[in-house]
Amino acid sequence: MKTKDEARLKGRVAIVTGASRGIGRAIAVGLAREGASVVVNYVSKAAAAEEVVNDIRVDGGNAVAVHTDVGNLAQHEGLVAAALKRFGRIDILVNNAAITHRQPFLDATAGAWDETVSVNLKGVYFLSQAVARVMTEQRSGKIINISSVHDVRAMMNNSVYNITKAGLVMLTKSLALELAEKGIQVNCVSPGAILTDETRDRLADPEHRARVLAKIPSRRVGEPADVVGAVLLLASPESDYITGTTLYVDGGMLL
Ligand code: NAP
Repeated sequence: MKTKDEARLKGRVAIVTGASRGIGRAIAVGLAREGASVVVNYVSKAAAAEEVVNDIRVDGGNAVAVHTDVGNLAQHEGLVAAALKRFGRIDILVNNAAITHRQPFLDATAGAWDETVSVNLKGVYFLSQAVARVMTEQRSGKIINISSVHDVRAMMNNSVYNITKAGLVMLTKSLALELAEKGIQVNCVSPGAILTDETRDRLADPEHRARVLAKIPSRRVGEPADVVGAVLLLASPESDYITGTTLYVDGGMLL
């Protein structure tokens, strides 16, 4: 962790959904390094979440792991209550957790639609509502939604995921519009191809990797750490006049 004087987020409290692995993990560690106390949310991998908490504590930071299924609205108050009980306030919500069921459109099922929309869109909407009620009392807050380049560029055989990510961009704008006067900024960070459990197997296939790399002007697949800088900016007071926007972190993929 940086010294107290250098830390940009000293005294802030953050919830990061899906922080047990991948991009969420890197974001949780990055926020903690800047002085924030972090609620490390997970749904299935408790040991991985505890490892993240341990890494943060070893680095001199504060963190706690909290189980919540973001797709289950009845569990949201428990996550908010756990953050308030442990750290007393909530300044930053990073809606990172998401799922994908790759299905060609002609084979797509209603079950996969419901599950994906519940986590990626409905869960984000109502968790943001629960947290924004706390932030409204505080008259300040930052909500950061982790979307994807697939919010504007369709991914083959993954229409439901694409649709939820496109929806997240309008969710971001709509919430930003209503919450701006309450001192709450809502923004999106949309990564390109990032090496995580979600993408590792496919990127291990040389042909697939070559196809992906051919689309990235920076000529490399991103690491979870590549996404952290954009989140730190949008979590810090430096971005108090930025709201409703989407920042692409994609090595130029959309160019
Ligand atoms: P990942 O490696 O698959 O990790 C998913 C994380 O979300 C895990 O921590 C998982 O928890 C959690 N999670 C899943 N369902 C959940 C639920 N219902 N409630 C709470 N937590 C849940 O994912 P990733 O690749 O890091 O992706 C993170 C975000 O970046 C997602 O929004 C994804 O759409 C976006 N993104 C990723 C890429 C990429 O190339 N990887 C590109 C663009 C955008 P457990 O560990 O407990 O299962």
